Amino acid sequence: MRMYDVIEKKKTGKKLTKEEIEFFVNGYTEGVIPDYQVSALLMAICLKGMDSEETSILTMTMAKSGDMLDLSKINGIKVDKHSTGGVGDKTSLVIGPMVASLGIPVAKMSGRGLGHTGGTIDKLESFEGFSTSISEETFINNVNTIKLAIAGQTKNLAPADKKLYLLRDVTATVDSIPLISGSIMSKKIASGADKIVLDVKTGSGAFMREEEDAVELAKTMVAIGNSQGRQTIGVVTDMNQPLGYAVGNILEVKEAIDSLKGNGPKDFMEVCITLASNMVVLAGVAKTTEEAAKMLQATIDDGRALDRFKQFIAAQGGDPSCVDDTTKFPKASIIEEVLSPVEGYINKIETEEVGIATLILGGGRENKESELDLRVGYVMNKKLGDFVKKGEKIATVHASDNTKKEESVKRFLAAFTIGETQAEIPKIIKKVIK
Ligand code: URA
Repeated sequence: MRMYDVIEKKKTGKKLTKEEIEFFVNGYTEGVIPDYQVSALLMAICLKGMDSEETSILTMTMAKSGDMLDLSKINGIKVDKHSTGGVGDKTSLVIGPMVASLGIPVAKMSGRGLGHTGGTIDKLESFEGFSTSISEETFINNVNTIKLAIAGQTKNLAPADKKLYLLRDVTATVDSIPLISGSIMSKKIASGADKIVLDVKTGSGAFMREEEDAVELAKTMVAIGNSQGRQTIGVVTDMNQPLGYAVGNILEVKEAIDSLKGNGPKDFMEVCITLASNMVVLAGVAKTTEEAAKMLQATIDDGRALDRFKQFIAAQGGDPSCVDDTTKFPKASIIEEVLSPVEGYINKIETEEVGIATLILGGGRENKESELDLRVGYVMNKKLGDFVKKGEKIATVHASDNTKKEESVKRFLAAFTIGETQAEIPKIIKKVIK
């Protein structure tokens, strides 16, 4: 078989066979097929798509490209949660401890930032000493004792996804339903979760800008999960503005800690409680999501979730005293107000641009080798529907370099459409797909 022929076939919109999909996934993982040929095929898949059979073969080939974790040593039903990627999306940091403090094991495999979106692993590295590459034994042990562990994708867990993810990130081939489905579901299946809740983002900061595409992505992933005996629920949520107010790694961690202390932004908490309540129902600990939501809210109100978060940070080598005193986190050297150039209502936010503005500051990756500056980003003061006066603070920028700051702030401000009439604020929870 020749890679050239596989590329040509997909370029002309034809269906790939199981052998062809296995050939390119395994060949790329083993280093036999070069980046440039795989990039060409990924672009052809982006443009021509894959049907459900091709997508599920792609997923299972990627899942089986490395170890399939056996979590049977963890007692109870393991429910995982995964987001398709957003801006200001720090939900795992709040959902994990809330769900764990109800006694439900959360054995979570998380990723790094992709494109303009952030990743949980990068955020957790804000805690000095925190390890996201713990051994399988420590991972299982932590879940059995404190019910929560979050690790990065180990070298041999879905290695095909690991390589493809990095390549997609720098070749503009992320926003494809089969590629996102294969990437997420291969990891979830290989990492041994019994049940899965997916947060499928839609809007100006999501890979799926149109709601109908997000619904299709959710349906595709739910079908793959269910067909593999892993009951899956997809929640389609709004990403037409950053979630909460903070964007950027340490800034988001601080907002997550505030949320665990009971001071979470409304939109952010609604997404956290909705996703977490579906996890609680899947785990069989509540009958309805309404009942689950009350149980989860109680873990915030009485401090159980915050305590669990501290235990989790300590168990993976981080300093939990930063949770009590968030001023201990490193700060950017430049912290400045960003002022609105005009007066009016905030009618639209190009959320991807807010993500890119953060990336320009050093908060995201420009290429495979980029090192992150965890301190930088934005804390917004105004969101969709808010009125802003000319010269009023719209956000605060945290930067480490003046040139980058200037370029970033220009891009950040250009992301806002400010008009005379107040536009409708999008519903945060759009659809639940079972
Ligand atoms: N998250 C993933 O893990 N993979 C994708 O392709 C997109 C978001």
